[in-house]
Amino acid sequence: MQITFLEVEKEDEKKIKKVFPEAQIFDGVFSEDEIIEKCQDAEILCVFIYSQISKKVIESLPNLKLIVTRSVGYDHIDLKTAEEKKIPVCNVPDYGSHVIAEHVFALLLSGIRRISEGEDRVEKEHKFEFQGLRGLALKGKTLGIIGTGKIGKNVARMASLGFLMDVIAYDPFPDEDSARENHYKYVDLDEIWKKSDIISLHCPLLPETHHLINDEVIGKMKKDVVIINTSRGGVIKTSDLLEGLQSGKIAHAALDVLEHEKNIEENKKLLEMPNVIITPHVAFYADDSMNRMYKEAFDSVERFLKKEKLVHQVIGV
Ligand code: NAD
Repeated sequence: MQITFLEVEKEDEKKIKKVFPEAQIFDGVFSEDEIIEKCQDAEILCVFIYSQISKKVIESLPNLKLIVTRSVGYDHIDLKTAEEKKIPVCNVPDYGSHVIAEHVFALLLSGIRRISEGEDRVEKEHKFEFQGLRGLALKGKTLGIIGTGKIGKNVARMASLGFLMDVIAYDPFPDEDSARENHYKYVDLDEIWKKSDIISLHCPLLPETHHLINDEVIGKMKKDVVIINTSRGGVIKTSDLLEGLQSGKIAHAALDVLEHEKNIEENKKLLEMPNVIITPHVAFYADDSMNRMYKEAFDSVERFLKKEKLVHQVIGV
């Protein structure tokens, strides 16, 4: 069966060849027309989030039998057309939530311990002096977590058991067992805004969470609050965050995701703020998570080849 992998980085090719020596492997991101042209023979298509598997693509690949995306999200795949054509779609629902949680602390500590300023001082100014770079400590500070799913729980555990922080959380579907195990306490949203020294967002982007962080709630927060976002850019209203930073209400923002993240021009003011640290949506991207991402995707392909039940099926056909 022709298995075609898209968006594969050079360092991951070996993993694929070991399991599927005959697979067709492409790197880079293709347009819909390019996917159609290059994947004409594909029977199994294994993609990542930047490949648009639209109605047109699905309808133009005559042999397609299975779509696997090596991601949690599958909004780049036209599920309706796949379902109509009876093509199962599989995802990788959890490739390592600890990896994203670890990045939360990488971002947070870089911001509040002023790591890049310190590095610039030594590397660019050749000054080995600490004065003026006083940071914030985590022990004893209150962390407010919004969304205690797979990632939020990991963050709570690392914060409470690792950094000895007081952790409070909000989730419309609280998990009291996890709260006991990971040493955090559920509160309502108002309490999160009022009591947190640091707020970390781990809810999905939904109509209810769109612009959840806006000028009204920023107004309720403590002075010098720190906001971390590794969820989705749209959870924060960027213009209100910028105002909060400019007014001095928000001490630091640590962001792995932005509203319209590819639009650098639109986000320029935010990028230029000295107390904002931004990474390019890399929280998921580490050795463990990439290995697991491929392993789980391979598992779906192998199950399909052996005609076994698919475990990570997004739509049943
Ligand atoms: P999850 O589905 O396990 O958890 C989400 C949690 O949010 C659930 O407990 C849910 O009850 C809760 N929730 C739903 N509505 C809410 C609301 N209105 N207010 C507060 N909480 C609400 O998801 P996850 O795997 O923990 O991922 C969380 C977020 O992280 C998602 O937005 C996801 O897209 C994002 N993410 C980012 C990266 C990255 O690289 N930056 C990687 C993976 C996931």
